Amino acid sequence: MTVQKILIVSGTHGNEINPVWAVKQFNREENSLNHGIEYEYIIGNPVAYKKGCRYIDADLNRSFKESKNYDQHKNSFYETNRANFLVDEFGIDGSKPCQIAIDLHTTTANMGTSIVLYGRRFKDFCLAALLQNKFGLPIYLHEKDKSQSGFLVEAWPCGLVIEIGAVAQNFYDQNIINRFLIIIRSLREEIDKLKNNLIELPKELVVHVHQGSIDYPRDEKGNIDGLIHPERMNQDWKLIKKGDPLFLDRRGIIHKYDGDHFVWPVFIGEVAYKEKKIAMSFTKKEVIHSNNQWVHEFESL
Ligand SMILES: [Zn+2]
Repeated sequence: MTVQKILIVSGTHGNEINPVWAVKQFNREENSLNHGIEYEYIIGNPVAYKKGCRYIDADLNRSFKESKNYDQHKNSFYETNRANFLVDEFGIDGSKPCQIAIDLHTTTANMGTSIVLYGRRFKDFCLAALLQNKFGLPIYLHEKDKSQSGFLVEAWPCGLVIEIGAVAQNFYDQNIINRFLIIIRSLREEIDKLKNNLIELPKELVVHVHQGSIDYPRDEKGNIDGLIHPERMNQDWKLIKKGDPLFLDRRGIIHKYDGDHFVWPVFIGEVAYKEKKIAMSFTKKEVIHSNNQWVHEFESL
């Protein structure tokens, strides 16, 4: 096992302030303890955090592109430069190399505590399985979405997002903070147990695989013309079948789901996704059988 350092990122979105507070609190508690695996802490987007906004020029959590960005326009973006700095500093070949990145986010949607994975990397599966096993957390597997890429954790060999809600932007909630603290505390413990053969991975991982997103109903001018249906409010992770209500428009018309497959919605009404024209995303449930390769790859990080 060569995991030596875990990077904990908070404030990747500057108006998600509870993770920043949780890390401050944790950092104080931690100073007296001595563990094998070290944590590094960083505020992802400190300028946006100071201003209380999500980002300055572009979403930082879509700014980690595989190859360096040669687009002159985007190169002047604060977030493009910040993404490069974070990788240069804490990336696997950086000056303070971290093998794992944990990116802490909050959502205004009623998601509870959840894990977000990007793609099907075995190392991520291994880490997610440890957490799902301990806490029973739902996992949103985001993949094959060409309109959204460049996520922070993808720039590290292993990493995942912890997403907790519902909480408003720029609003402190001690219950949300406590949930972050539990996860941060447990990470190192669980990895340590795996390292010392004290636990085995669960036989399977249950994931909710991203299928696509839908926008609000809009009028001919492009303005939002319908709201999340009251029956759909706060019903993240709850199955939707054909005929179930999604939106209610100004005229009182119910917009229903007319797909043939069952779907499980996430990020219902997320405030930050309005600009991305996403009212909610649909997922399907999938069971992935764990295998030893996950642990082998994780151990060789
Ligand atoms: Zn966020």
